[in-house]
Amino acid sequence: MLGEWCATAAQRLLDSVLPPLCLACNEIVAGPGALCAACWPGFRFVAPPLCLRCGVPFAEDPGPGAQCGACLGRPPRFRQARAALVYDDRSRRLVLPFKHGDRTDMARACGRWMAGAGSELLAEAELIAPVPLHWRRLFTRRYNQALLLARSVSRASQGRLAPDLLRRARWTGSQAGLKAQERRTNVRRAFELHPRWAEAVRDKTVLLVDDVLTTGATVEACTRALERGGVRHVDVLTLARVIRAA
Ligand SMILES: [Zn+2]
Ligand SMILES: [Zn+2]
Repeated sequence: MLGEWCATAAQRLLDSVLPPLCLACNEIVAGPGALCAACWPGFRFVAPPLCLRCGVPFAEDPGPGAQCGACLGRPPRFRQARAALVYDDRSRRLVLPFKHGDRTDMARACGRWMAGAGSELLAEAELIAPVPLHWRRLFTRRYNQALLLARSVSRASQGRLAPDLLRRARWTGSQAGLKAQERRTNVRRAFELHPRWAEAVRDKTVLLVDDVLTTGATVEACTRALERGGVRHVDVLTLARVIRAA
């Protein structure tokens, strides 16, 4: 509590002495957590019409409740997924320094965009949990950006932040460069419910938060772990999502 207060006070002090910078290019902007006029139009926000399940945008409106071919062919384990940004060269620049640098202030702005994109999911979320980072990676990267995003998003919801709801059951290595099926195999049984949430999670609607949705293999493995613990629904909210050319 005191720690949180000190962090807020320190942030206010920093905000008052340093000019706010564009999240993408470090140009000076009017207020904290903003993009400059040059960067703003380059970001592609995910906008409806969307697949009801996975939230991929449709080029043409197929009518309410429509699902994409991928979801019809192989329904995802989670109920619904939504994302704020299309993952491309532009948003990658936002995610990468966020991932590997120290711009934790970015989490606040990104959390606001995510809260907009996932407002319907947030309205139902009872527990909000990050996709966990393996402790070895936590050690080298120093923080879990999914946790920063989950904390930021939880401020726009009545849902309770559950920072350690899931944990890594084993080391999985990177998902980068793996195909969808390989990714699913790589993360199988990689996550487990933390025992201290065993009672609290039962019959609850959980919102999983991560930075980027790629094939969905990771969040599906998390969903399985939560299902084993007896949750009612699992929804997914990410900062960005990969959109493959159809
Ligand atoms: Zn900029
Ligand atoms: Zn879909």
